[in-house]
Amino acid sequence: MDSSFARRVIRWQRQAGRHDLPWQGTHDPYRVWLSEIMLQQTQVATVVDYFLRFLARFPEVRALAAASPEEVLALWAGLGYYARARHLHACARRVVGEYGGQFPSSAAALAELPGIGRSTAAAIAAFAYGERAAILDGNVKRVLCRHFAIEGAPVGAVEKSLWTLAESLLPPLSSAPQITHEEMANYTQGLMDLGATLCLSRTPHCESCPLATSCLARQQGRQESLPAKAPRKAKPCRRAEFLLITDGKEILLQRRPSSGVWGGLLTFPEGREALRLLGQEGHELQPLPPREHVFTHFRLEIHPVVCKVEKMPDMANQPNLECLPLKTALKAGVPAPVARLLEELRNFVSRIPP
Ligand code: SF4
Repeated sequence: MDSSFARRVIRWQRQAGRHDLPWQGTHDPYRVWLSEIMLQQTQVATVVDYFLRFLARFPEVRALAAASPEEVLALWAGLGYYARARHLHACARRVVGEYGGQFPSSAAALAELPGIGRSTAAAIAAFAYGERAAILDGNVKRVLCRHFAIEGAPVGAVEKSLWTLAESLLPPLSSAPQITHEEMANYTQGLMDLGATLCLSRTPHCESCPLATSCLARQQGRQESLPAKAPRKAKPCRRAEFLLITDGKEILLQRRPSSGVWGGLLTFPEGREALRLLGQEGHELQPLPPREHVFTHFRLEIHPVVCKVEKMPDMANQPNLECLPLKTALKAGVPAPVARLLEELRNFVSRIPP
């Protein structure tokens, strides 16, 4: 029996890997692509509902391309890393505009599309077309660094050498045993499953691992220390005052610019200056407990204040501002910290005297 790295991963994936996720059992590149984008930096359990909701609303790429950016963002709201949603939409439009609605069928061409990096392109090509292409996401880096006892954090030159290693480990193409489309999909899924279910960051389940007999980290008892962690820089802290302007029935929200943090989403106006611009000075401001939201590159210290008004401001000349019913604003495409504040606010305003 062939006991190469790849063959062991394939056998294990068939017997013990994940087979019932809603995006599995298909070669449809649209579904494969949608799931792979959602799974970037997000766990399977979180993605499942979003994937099904997107698919119900946009059953194929043309429907997604035809949607407005606001609708795409509203459906994505809560999944985080919102640049992914903007790239997803831009990618759908490119696929329709440049490829007649058919995703390109090679990893190299896929990697040219918005939001599709090298590893994601390889995963889509492997699942949808059986292409023999190497993936290297965070989970796979961990498996390789441990199995081969690779020193150094998996960035820069180490990451480059991991790509070379990942390519050398691919099941052979032209010599026996020849790789098939299904096997390539099993291998790609197997690497992902190993990292997500056995080779965990903490307490890996080496006793069940198909790679245990050749794993150097296991032999050397170094599972905990591999891969090495890149030195972490302290994240800078920013401060923002969120103005929750409400008459008890509606809430004032502001659409952010299409790029940058929470790009295109609805959030609260910020800072006292906004009150002056909206002609809402002189109201009593009631603070809610401060909270923190952590982004990739900084921490945001949020200071919410409630401004209860008798009449909502006139929005006629304010294209970025919207007055929405408190009950439904949650569904309008707001980031998670804003959604939590809207929930709190609904309870809070009912206790404020008119
Ligand atoms: S034997 Fe343990 S450390 Fe090595 S690859 Fe398997 S789960 Fe990871």
